[in-house]
Amino acid sequence: MTETPLTPSTLRLGWEEWVSMEELGLPAIKAKVDTGARTSALHAVRIEPFGTEAKPQVRFIMHPDPEDPTVEVVCSARVVDRRNVTSSNGGQELRYIIETNVTLGTKTWAVEISLTNRETMGYRMLLGRSAIQDDMSVRPTESFLQPQLDYSVYKKRRKSAVRQRPLRIGILTQSKNNYSNKRMIEAAEARGHTVETIYTSRCYMAINAHKPEVHYNGKPLPRYDAIIPRIGASITFYGMAVVRQFEAMGVYVLNRADAIGKSRDKLLAHQLLGSHGLGMPVTAFAKSSRDNKGILDLVGGSPVIVKLLESTQGRGVVLAETRNTASAIIDAFRGLDAHFLVQEFVKEAGGSDIRCFVVNGKVVGAMMRTAKAGDFRSNVHQGGSVAKVKLTKEERRSAIRAAKILKLDVAGVDVLRSDSGPKILEVNSSPGLQGIETATGKDIAGTIIECIENKVPTILRVGGK
Ligand code: ADP
Repeated sequence: MTETPLTPSTLRLGWEEWVSMEELGLPAIKAKVDTGARTSALHAVRIEPFGTEAKPQVRFIMHPDPEDPTVEVVCSARVVDRRNVTSSNGGQELRYIIETNVTLGTKTWAVEISLTNRETMGYRMLLGRSAIQDDMSVRPTESFLQPQLDYSVYKKRRKSAVRQRPLRIGILTQSKNNYSNKRMIEAAEARGHTVETIYTSRCYMAINAHKPEVHYNGKPLPRYDAIIPRIGASITFYGMAVVRQFEAMGVYVLNRADAIGKSRDKLLAHQLLGSHGLGMPVTAFAKSSRDNKGILDLVGGSPVIVKLLESTQGRGVVLAETRNTASAIIDAFRGLDAHFLVQEFVKEAGGSDIRCFVVNGKVVGAMMRTAKAGDFRSNVHQGGSVAKVKLTKEERRSAIRAAKILKLDVAGVDVLRSDSGPKILEVNSSPGLQGIETATGKDIAGTIIECIENKVPTILRVGGK
């Protein structure tokens, strides 16, 4: 290498220096500066390509601290090339080449880096001569001419501050092309992420302690940074098992299986919300038909709502105007071995309910749904209409608390406006986006993707908290 004339702005580098690569979520790495090698190299394991041909990306795991292999950083970057690189032992290896900004001392510049397993090497990174700029000068006999960093930063920011890396996101769904999925894919791609749709019912898995995997079309699925479960009511049981498997693989899931299960079981959800003092219509249930009178008395007599526990889109919700009708409906449901609950009819809601869309502990949109004339059910599937609504403080608070109690990152909390304050009807763990985005004009899909960006952990700690 020809010697560059030294100027006051020349960056002097020793043969070993500390670098940081914030885009990769790597705030501190000890690198070997080696002008004998052309291409820079970074330690990477479990390298998995993803994205499209036009925009190829790669996801990999990096152990920055050679002394502590339990610190794992999940990195992803755009692939700029695949090249045969000669390694230090003389062998050729076809490697992914990424480009990322490297900061060393006062300078930050873009460097092409090849990814390879450097587990057995002394340094997790090698800075080759193609990375050395004209305003840098390497002193091969000296080390650490630039400020030294420390691996302890990884322990301090375990949950990571890095949010910009491209994420590989999977949507678990049974219907690829619905409005909600299309919008979330659009919003994620606009932010540089890659989204793959996975049919929930086509996932299969072996359950074992050592290597949990989800298989699909004859192959194990890759490692996703995040899974968005859109589990319809008809597939709750199987869908929860698939979601749990992703959880076992250490993938961040937006709404965990346990939370989905709690919200789906209307009885359990009511019990949980009730035990936290949240307002809801007085609700009763009984096993024996001898207790029909008892449960009707508990909810204050007629009129009452009788609701199938599995009801969705208002299909199993009946208004019984008189005690006799109520008893007849209850007997009919019992005869069919159906699970149901009996509920006070909140008349003053006037056929309207409010859908509060909660993302990451905040109400990000609210709409009022109003039943068509002659119906008391406001479900859009029953012909109801939607309009933007301004929430009261109490309604907002109740919705946020309901999502929190059920531990849902994303929730559609349905609330009735009653004379005695908001009454929670149900909490939906896969709320649709069409109504709420239309009514509010807001980019709710974008807000969901932002929530994922904030929650996906980048720095993992293997085998412990
Ligand atoms: P689903 O899960 O089938 O949508 P819901 O419990 O949400 O069942 O009820 C459907 C609709 O019926 C609600 O959106 C609301 O408009 C109306 N409704 C349900 N329960 C009551 C009630 N206790 N009082 C008044 N209206 C109710």
